[in-house]
Amino acid sequence: MDEAFHIREAGTKPHLAGGRLTIDLRSLQANYRALAKVAAPAGVAGVVKADAYGIGIADVVPALAAAGCDTFFVALPEEGFAVRRAAPQSRIFVLNGLFGLDAAETYARSQLIPVINTAIDLTIWERFCGRQGAAHPCAIHVDTGMNRLGITPAEAIAFADENMLTRAVNPVLLMSHLACADQRDDPKNRKQLEIFRNVGRAFGEMEASLVNSSGLLLGRDFHFGLTRPGIAVYGGSPAPGVTMRTVVTAEARVAQIRYVKAGETISYGATSVLQRDSIIAVAAVGYADGFPRAASGSGVPIRQLFPGGNGFVNGRRVPIIGRVTMDLTMFDVTDLGADGIATGDHIELFGPNLPIDEAARAAGTISYELLTRLGQRYHRAYISAEPPESKSS
Ligand SMILES: *Cc1c(COP(=O)(O)O)cnc(C)c1O
Repeated sequence: MDEAFHIREAGTKPHLAGGRLTIDLRSLQANYRALAKVAAPAGVAGVVKADAYGIGIADVVPALAAAGCDTFFVALPEEGFAVRRAAPQSRIFVLNGLFGLDAAETYARSQLIPVINTAIDLTIWERFCGRQGAAHPCAIHVDTGMNRLGITPAEAIAFADENMLTRAVNPVLLMSHLACADQRDDPKNRKQLEIFRNVGRAFGEMEASLVNSSGLLLGRDFHFGLTRPGIAVYGGSPAPGVTMRTVVTAEARVAQIRYVKAGETISYGATSVLQRDSIIAVAAVGYADGFPRAASGSGVPIRQLFPGGNGFVNGRRVPIIGRVTMDLTMFDVTDLGADGIATGDHIELFGPNLPIDEAARAAGTISYELLTRLGQRYHRAYISAEPPESKSS
């Protein structure tokens, strides 16, 4: 990518920050467009819950809108307000539901579309619309086997038949969610698809949406009118062997280089006893920044379950050594040699050299958690193709 680009800086000033995030919105757009190609003719909504997976709604939503995205999913109404500010014309669905009658007014006034997940919320929305004399839009979430949110298939079909006559509310989307989309061959995928199709018949031509990132790769049958990929847009791998462009690079700044003798120990609990004279880089990111304590390196009891993480610097992987602490993480950089690293250098935690899925696995977690926990203390640089608008946050 050699076209002109723009950088918007946010968060802690770079010279004062313990770590930095480089967020490439051009890669985010490329991921969105690649998925849109696979999904076509179905549409691709932006899933921007949890502040766009920790990356920032204010930057992500305009980037997606510029790539052609006009429909967004958030978890909570407040997130919907942020999307509205960033893309005023967009259609916004709130996944976690209505939260009762008190919230109904807010949805209608803010033109947020509640995803109806329970029979009670459906009744409330019907009454609210009745009282207002207006059939406001809503999405109907039918549970096809995830057993998280959603009304039952029988409830959905009964609703469709009844609402056809009463027109009490205006259902604009039928949706469901796959439990095992990341396991291609799991028979549950087809089972959920069949149930969803069956319910869909009762709703006629209404728009329908079943799949997230991994579900989008299950093929045409699963696409319906609208797909909802989240993690793949943000650079996480949606399926084994499928890689997306890196969107987020997280790096920690080296606060100190230490020369430590064999037999000495590193960090809390003295869990890690050095087998050789070592060079240790102390880097200024810790679990308070959302870097998991479970990424702790050698000697830590949880390491029996997870291998422990690595950093990447100067062309090499460097293992985390000793426990990750609140504000600091130690790396064994002995193999880089005395001239290989200096105070003020940055060690990559995940990014182009250390895929986020691998960094997550090493800490016993998933890319989603690494992203959504990214702390507020980082310096952030957003790289975009379009000039950034002025942002309040
Ligand atoms: C989070 C979420 C998505 C996006 O999932 P990814 O796995 O990130 O692609 C889609 N649909 C629903 C209902 C979700 O909660």
